[in-house]
Amino acid sequence: MRDDGWIIYVGTDVTQLNASERHLRLARDALLRQSATDDLTGVSNRRHILARLQEVLDSAQDGWACVLDIDHFKRINDSYGHQTGDDVLVRFARAVRGTIRLRDAFGRVGGEEFLILFATPHLSEASTALQRIRDALTAETIGLPDVTLTVSGGLTAIAVGDTQAQILRRADLALYCAKQNGRNQIRLALADDPPSDPLLLSEARR
Ligand code: GH3
Ligand code: MG
Ligand code: MG
Repeated sequence: MRDDGWIIYVGTDVTQLNASERHLRLARDALLRQSATDDLTGVSNRRHILARLQEVLDSAQDGWACVLDIDHFKRINDSYGHQTGDDVLVRFARAVRGTIRLRDAFGRVGGEEFLILFATPHLSEASTALQRIRDALTAETIGLPDVTLTVSGGLTAIAVGDTQAQILRRADLALYCAKQNGRNQIRLALADDPPSDPLLLSEARR
């Protein structure tokens, strides 16, 4: 209040402040999303899918982890060029994402290698989902009329007490076995102890 009777209010433009706060929050969300996303395919990147695996382990939920690796992918690059190879990766990721449930997690862990985390204790559900994925890899979805794209996979249980390293090692072992036995198949590595040859998933007891 001034001597002459006027009252002076000093205000801050809250609308502006809110707008810039909103802006910051949106920018932060965009950055967080970006840091979790694979640039090429738009699915989870390696860091994010492994963080999801750790969450599953920390919360002691049962589940199944499957490493998927596209068969002879190098041939696609060699025959059609790197850009077409990229397009195939994008289409592959979209096809897989389209077949699995929202609560399952899916990410790209390397070049043409992906990881799926099935949020179910039932092997039959993971197995059915994997068959759906393989059925979805048609010339049409992949975008190359002359190519039948196949995938090999290593599946393993996410068991209480496992470490991330144990799970990835078992899944890799099963994937390696699938590649060694002619590709285009999913192998199941049951346990570390005693170590056993990974089974063909279609022959595993459900
Ligand atoms: P295998 O059945 O044994 O898995 O054979 P492969 O040819 O799929 O496997 P290999 O490891 O020999 O080759 C993988 C190829 O994937 C080689 C590499 O150039 C290609 N690749 C990796 N990342 C990308 C990518 O982001 N884009 C494209 N276009 N190609 C990629
Ligand atoms: Mg491959
Ligand atoms: Mg590979």
